[in-house]
Amino acid sequence: MLSERLKKLTPYVPGEQPQDKKYIKLNTNENPYPPSPRIKSFLSSFEYQKLRLYPDPQALELRKKISTCYNLPVSSVFVGNGSDEVLSFAFFAFFDSLQGDLLFPEFTYSFYPVYCDFYSISYKKIRLNKEFSINIDNFLSQTPSCGIIFPNPNAPTGTYLEADRIQELLHEYQKDRVIIIDEAYIDFGGETAASLLSQHENLLITKTFSKSRSLAGIRLGYALGQEHLIKALFTTKDSFNSYPIDTLAQNICSLAMEDAGYYRNINAKIIGSRDFLSRSLTSLGWVVLPSKANFLFARFPGIPGKELYLTLKDNGILVRYFDIKGIKEFVRITIGTEEEIKLFLIKVKELFSS
Ligand SMILES: *Cc1c(COP(=O)(O)O)cnc(C)c1O
Repeated sequence: MLSERLKKLTPYVPGEQPQDKKYIKLNTNENPYPPSPRIKSFLSSFEYQKLRLYPDPQALELRKKISTCYNLPVSSVFVGNGSDEVLSFAFFAFFDSLQGDLLFPEFTYSFYPVYCDFYSISYKKIRLNKEFSINIDNFLSQTPSCGIIFPNPNAPTGTYLEADRIQELLHEYQKDRVIIIDEAYIDFGGETAASLLSQHENLLITKTFSKSRSLAGIRLGYALGQEHLIKALFTTKDSFNSYPIDTLAQNICSLAMEDAGYYRNINAKIIGSRDFLSRSLTSLGWVVLPSKANFLFARFPGIPGKELYLTLKDNGILVRYFDIKGIKEFVRITIGTEEEIKLFLIKVKELFSS
């Protein structure tokens, strides 16, 4: 009854969303603050009859709003049902094992190998530096390759690759292979590579409303790139599902795009809490990687990540730990509200001491 294709799949496992009791939830990198208040008033006056009709298959209004923010033509913007869907379309459209392996960091977003298996793309994991930062020379020395993808900042490490390194990578790498920069966390202190798009026809940048826009529940992600890449993503989408973005999502995300001031504010709070938590944990003897994301990747010498995770869970706090050789000592802590971070620190002091 099951296809051979299906039998070979190993699906991605998202972070737990437990319903059994109330946790301080610092495990899935959601934004702890509510979405723009403009969305609340929109929803309370939304005419439900509008749901009778199909949504705009091109999501033109939303794409216009996004394109204006980045000073790009609307033909440079693609939207999808979460950036996970955008990424899956991009893997399908741009990466072909006949040209070599797809390259990504050894520790990175664990959906990448899942898409590779889904589309039969071979891949190679590229060594990070000792302090877990991305080393572009390790990417450039791999040949042949069919493309490159990495998050900036990287996940789950939080480390950030500076703009001049990215320029260097774009200059040195083959022009006929796509480089995807997954900027899911760029709004927490990084600088987007969007200004490089006009000079690089092989650059695709993906982004999401799930983290910095506090809209993980609406499922909206987007890609920025030159028109020929965006067209390829549309061809992929329209061979799969014409209407992945529903009417509510198109409206809500347009409003979120307009309310840049609100989001700058809440994200500045998150950045403040992150840096406070990083300093506090360090002074308690933790090792904390430098982060430009809305999470910290940290370890407490002498206690394995799994034990940190389980002890915290017993005490009503959820963080994420990865059972992967090389990062087993670490837990990933999402930055919550200022209140949650204070409570977290109190518990940590109580539970772990050197
Ligand atoms: C969260 C995340 C995504 C997925 O975002 P969605 O838009 O919610 O699908 C993509 N890439 C990375 C690195 C992420 O952490």
